[in-house]
Amino acid sequence: MAHALALRGWRVSVFDPAWGARPPEAGHLAAALTPLLARDDSPRARLSRAGALRAAARWAPWVDGGIVDRCGTVQLAKSDEKEAGMRAMLAELGFPADWACPVTREEASALAGCPTARGGVYFPGGLRVRPRQLGAALLSRPGIAVRAARVARIEALPADVPSGRRWRAIDGDGATLAEAEIVVLANAAEAPRLLAASGLAATGGELPGFFGQKAIAGQITLLPAQAAAWHPPHCVVAGDGYVLPAVDGMCVAGSTYVHDAPRAVATAEGHAVNLERAGRLLPELAGAGLDPSASMGWAGWRAVLPGRLPVIGESPVHGGLWAASGYASRGLSWSALGGDILAAFLEGEPMVLEGDLLRMIAWR
Ligand SMILES: Cc1cc2nc3c(=O)[nH]c(=O)nc-3n(C[C@H](O)[C@H](O)[C@H](O)COP(=O)(O)OP(=O)(O)OC[C@H]3O[C@@H](n4cnc5c(N)ncnc54)[C@H](O)[C@@H]3O)c2cc1C
Repeated sequence: MAHALALRGWRVSVFDPAWGARPPEAGHLAAALTPLLARDDSPRARLSRAGALRAAARWAPWVDGGIVDRCGTVQLAKSDEKEAGMRAMLAELGFPADWACPVTREEASALAGCPTARGGVYFPGGLRVRPRQLGAALLSRPGIAVRAARVARIEALPADVPSGRRWRAIDGDGATLAEAEIVVLANAAEAPRLLAASGLAATGGELPGFFGQKAIAGQITLLPAQAAAWHPPHCVVAGDGYVLPAVDGMCVAGSTYVHDAPRAVATAEGHAVNLERAGRLLPELAGAGLDPSASMGWAGWRAVLPGRLPVIGESPVHGGLWAASGYASRGLSWSALGGDILAAFLEGEPMVLEGDLLRMIAWR
């Protein structure tokens, strides 16, 4: 969001208590951006295609420099029958081969550089991203000031403020962090809580749609890429779970979904789930004897809305108040798109998304 605005010359203040709290190498080592396919080319599939294309355009300066790797993704079928189904679906959808094409097990294995369990679909544009480094690179753009601070509440300024500023962000001590024309709540599952703390939860008696948002915990597992018993993939290998190409000698395998978890923590049980899934994608891994109790990983939260579509839009009640939340398991797919949607609205640029999709992700 901040990067998209700064690209258009806006001055942006970003507040996040997590900023600078951990070194860039900590946390989420690497993540995948793979577009979604659906036989009926569902709204979510179309939105993910738009998001993948936006991300490829916006992150071009960092591609293949270690932060964003255009390594491609092979999405494996879950059974031989489903592999034939994927082939038929691709023939129906008619995408160009440089977007998505069917691959046999042999072709998938050749692309991955190691044996895969099956064939499926190859996305040449699949990305492996280092999220923390990408975030830092995007936020280093001139015009963006980042501060480690938690916004406790926001309040609307009187309509006649001559500066045109409409919103004030306030910290837990009651101090003003910033005043601005536009405020964007880009704080995942905390967005509804911040609205409630600000007395802005009710819109004519109704709660905004994203108050149905749930925080779902999950973890990834780090696989040592130098182990003798298996060869790490050269591209993202996905299916029920995924394994990413190595970063700093480690491959990320993921990921688990833990509903109603009190905390997001990486556990040996979670590693066992990830290793089992990874072994079903890459048969060498199944026989590599990796020990879940000796594995390392990372755990975090996903903010998930019913339908697993994000909310990206302006409050229907409060002008200048935006939400970019509910990114669920596809934060990379929605992030560049979200920024360009906001910026296109503010700048009167041609919209980057069809109207029906915009309405589906609108703040209602
Ligand atoms: C195990 C796991 C694996 C994943 N793998 C992938 C993947 O491969 N590809 C992918 O695309 N996605 C993946 N995701 C999902 C991805 O992490 C999320 O979609 C993404 O992080 C959402 O981004 P966000 O900025 O909306 O929220 P977050 O990344 O959760 O960031 C929200 C930020 O808001 C800050 N904040 C909260 N409240 C306040 C406040 N009051 N004031 C100021 N700041 C505040 C928090 O400190 C936090 O830093 C994965 C998630 C998990 C858990």
